[in-house]
Amino acid sequence: MPQESSKQRIVKVAVPCPLYKTFDYSLPASKNRDIVPGIRVRVPFGRQKLIGIIIEETLTTDVPANKLKPVIAVLDEQNLLSSDILKLLLWAARYYVHPLGEVVQTALPVYLRNTDDATPVLPEFWRLKAQEDNHTDSQAQNEVMESLKRAPKQLQLYQLLLSAEDSLDAEALNSLTENWRAPAKALLDKQLIETFVKPALLKQENDNTIAPALHQEQTEAINNIEAHRHQHAVHVINGITGSGKTEVYLALCESMLADNRQILVLVPEIGLTPQLTQRFLERLNTSVVILHSAMNDKQRYAAWHAAANKQARLVIGTRSSIFTPLPDLGLIIIDEEHDGSYKQQDGFRYNARDLAILRAKNNNIPIVLGSATPSLETLNNINEQRYQVNYLKQRANKKPLPKIKLVNLCSQKLHEGLAETLLLKIRQHLDLQGQVLLFINRRGFAPLLMCHDCGWTTNCQRCDAHMTFHKRRNQLHCHHCGSQRPAPEHCDECGSNEIVAIGAGTERIEHFLQERFSDTNVSRIDRDTTRNKGSLEDKLEKAHSGESGILVGTQMLAKGHDFPNMTLVCVLDTDQALFSADFRAAEHLAQLITQVSGRAGRAEKPGEVLIQTHHPDHPLLQTLLHEGYQAFAQAALHERQAAGLPPARHLVLLRCESVEVNAAQAFLQQAVDKARQVNLEDIELFGPIPAPMERRAGRYRYQVMLQSKQRKALHRFLSWWAPQLQQLVSARKVRWSIDVDPYDTF
Ligand code: ADP
Ligand code: ZN
Ligand code: ZN
Repeated sequence: MPQESSKQRIVKVAVPCPLYKTFDYSLPASKNRDIVPGIRVRVPFGRQKLIGIIIEETLTTDVPANKLKPVIAVLDEQNLLSSDILKLLLWAARYYVHPLGEVVQTALPVYLRNTDDATPVLPEFWRLKAQEDNHTDSQAQNEVMESLKRAPKQLQLYQLLLSAEDSLDAEALNSLTENWRAPAKALLDKQLIETFVKPALLKQENDNTIAPALHQEQTEAINNIEAHRHQHAVHVINGITGSGKTEVYLALCESMLADNRQILVLVPEIGLTPQLTQRFLERLNTSVVILHSAMNDKQRYAAWHAAANKQARLVIGTRSSIFTPLPDLGLIIIDEEHDGSYKQQDGFRYNARDLAILRAKNNNIPIVLGSATPSLETLNNINEQRYQVNYLKQRANKKPLPKIKLVNLCSQKLHEGLAETLLLKIRQHLDLQGQVLLFINRRGFAPLLMCHDCGWTTNCQRCDAHMTFHKRRNQLHCHHCGSQRPAPEHCDECGSNEIVAIGAGTERIEHFLQERFSDTNVSRIDRDTTRNKGSLEDKLEKAHSGESGILVGTQMLAKGHDFPNMTLVCVLDTDQALFSADFRAAEHLAQLITQVSGRAGRAEKPGEVLIQTHHPDHPLLQTLLHEGYQAFAQAALHERQAAGLPPARHLVLLRCESVEVNAAQAFLQQAVDKARQVNLEDIELFGPIPAPMERRAGRYRYQVMLQSKQRKALHRFLSWWAPQLQQLVSARKVRWSIDVDPYDTF
């Protein structure tokens, strides 16, 4: 009856499912209490019982009274997602055209997605207990292992903990072994191991580092930003590598903390920049939490909870920490704002930098974007005077930036892709006790194997790509789908055993250099050599101490590391980027060259940078070398303008893939037909066209591209189009996604 239903309380809930809507539920009288948006509820959904978030309470519903299901349980006393975070998420769901339920799910710590009780629990870790006798560690450990001979399960656990970096949590132990709890108890009783919890809040006990006297450029930047420090503005700190940007961040943090405000610092990848985190901890006398995806779910939630409850005053985190509730938030800092890792590349494809700017605007607080090589998007916003900019043009140590020189590869003798002249330079620098860094963005030994007799190549069965040869493991790996197989001894086509490795990756260059420069240690830093926990730290440590004279690495090494003795930096594979199908490739190359140049000659010795290329006259390289990154970027902005690419135009990709050749194309064609039914006004639509890599992981991939000068027009259209796409019958056979402001078009 209508009277009854009008008295009934109804809530709109975001449920984790791929539909562009919220779902209405009734709130039984027994659960009659203060309900605010952001509270979690358990609700029936199909045959499941899912955890959703209340978006709002409503008086009306389209659901007939007999179909309206009641909430099963209200899980929280207070809202876990604050109103400003909910506002951000609602906006993001519309902007990125992604189902709200999944957007909200992304913002919630994993622990809260599965657990009813929101009380944080710190996870237990296990480690070996230090023994109090005079033996050396290894002697003592051998004795213990001897004594455990008759208890193999205990021995096995002991050995696991012995080989662990520091400690292991239950998740890690579960993945390494089974039934470990009983032997753990036995070892605990014998006082051979111990358990402990890691506190969520990090605090440096004896704070004894002091800030250096700031240079004029630094002081000016700080004054400019602090002039209106409780108002919204986007400030860019465009400072060359080593110019002291981090010192500016630290000074800004100090005054915000003194004003009793919380601070959010976003960094591209925590693991790659342990030095930065350490500096914040040492300098700022405050409680800090770290948030990143490699953390244990409980640990991560405990850190999130400490931030949401104001105990943590400073949060340092990666992309998804932009969704952390911070009631006293006063400042957001985005370090290396140009970095691609701020963009999520699957599921809910948001850009954390852009959401951070919106959050700062909503909260009326300043945000600082720092970079030595700002993105073209940010430079465009500076040009159009939407952002304030502060330049730091001098290195803090007043050392000049190294000279960048091109090494013309044409008709030079090459050794595994390295020019003879480059090798001579390396020798010179090593002889003068300098260290050398070589960049190549290609892992493995060689990008492919080829039959010398018939030209057969090692292609991936599932992708339009070659399989990379990894020599140490004697395997072929596809870097696009993860397929692996043993390296062939004979050609699949003609049976010949004349198999040759074509091209060079980090592994091959490491081998070659180690042979050529046998008097120094060559260290390779890429995803293959740093997979084990602690190995990256170990390698960085050896690089800092000077034990490794030559470092060969991928882009991983470009970020935030300070090697005082590094005097020569070489960039090996520029030509690929100069002629790439990726519209951001040139920007990335210029950023890499500029960033890594800053790695050379930091201390007393002058530095040198060498760039190998077959195209030394390429206008991009010429502009970059002779006029610098700023000039390059302005030229690149003009090119984007002419090509109708971002940031001049706004871009949206509708991607689709399927195992059937025609299904993806059919879906996209119907999507386009649908779009053509309405007036597309200011929007240009291209496609369907094949993705640059047409087949990946056994799926055929196609896309439709939308371009417009008017964001509003684009969004008005998308909010109509996306739910229509969901209705298409052809959608059931394919995977499709919408990418607003895509980072690449692959
Ligand atoms: P960036 O973040 O721009 O790369 P950093 O803030 O890391 O630069 O500074 C580079 C180095 O110079 C660091 O070792 C830092 O301690 C030092 N430094 C920064 N500012 C000053 C200053 N005003 N006086 C002396 N040393 C400084
Ligand atoms: Zn062959
Ligand atoms: Zn593959």
